[in-house]
Amino acid sequence: MAHHGIQVIGVIFMLECSSYKDINIGMGICGEDDYETKVYVYAIDGLMIDTGAQIMEQDVIEFFKSNHIDQVVLTHNHEDHTGTAPWILKNTNVPVYLNEGAIPSANRPPVMDGYVTKMWGIRDTFDPKPLTDKIVTSSGKYTFEVIHAPGHKPQHDCFYERSQGWLFSGDLYLGTKQFVCYKDENMKQTIESIEKVLQLDFDTIFCAHAGVVENGKVRLEKRLKFLKDLQNQVNEMRSQGMDDRAIDAEIYPFNLTIQDISGGDWSSYNIIHTL
Ligand SMILES: [Zn+2]
Repeated sequence: MAHHGIQVIGVIFMLECSSYKDINIGMGICGEDDYETKVYVYAIDGLMIDTGAQIMEQDVIEFFKSNHIDQVVLTHNHEDHTGTAPWILKNTNVPVYLNEGAIPSANRPPVMDGYVTKMWGIRDTFDPKPLTDKIVTSSGKYTFEVIHAPGHKPQHDCFYERSQGWLFSGDLYLGTKQFVCYKDENMKQTIESIEKVLQLDFDTIFCAHAGVVENGKVRLEKRLKFLKDLQNQVNEMRSQGMDDRAIDAEIYPFNLTIQDISGGDWSSYNIIHTL
């Protein structure tokens, strides 16, 4: 493993399990070939953060059981974060928490068309409880502050452990550069959320797709710079009279596979248009 301080424990079915300090980590791979995506779930002191995609469900259930989970929090309601939440609510008494504003969307059947099903599996509806401002783990050892960080979705939260300098960032970080975004993302809001989160004192990011990111604050600052430079470039091109389609074609003259197979759900245009 590339990250210093991570120990690989073994593999539960297809989930690669590792640990970092007190945190147990499960990683599954969704999609295939050039659109495969790593999906991470985390467990610490009985608290589970995100539940992977439904296609990982059998493995995540084993991870859930072996970590003696007594509460689950979700960063946001996307299929690759909420996949095992319906099983947990149906089969255990463990509460699952989600941003209150996202609960109606969890109650509705998700739109699962061909590529979504292939990537993430078919997720059932579920009825989580609303997140409060703070989550204390079962032994009382860790306290997570809920940091509202919209942009990737209108309701998206990060979980911040101040005394440890840990930020469980959901899909706020992902990487420094970005080539596509989802159709309901708002990059302007993402920039504001990153600026807000950078006011906090933290070192390590726990990303749902990039895993453990040490020097996470520096990495997140790099992401902010990338997005602000891109925003300046887009505004400059707009001031020259170019429309967003033309700007997209110039800045991103290529299409990623996910852009083609998702029929526009994922696109570089969504980045440009919301900057
Ligand atoms: Zn997401």
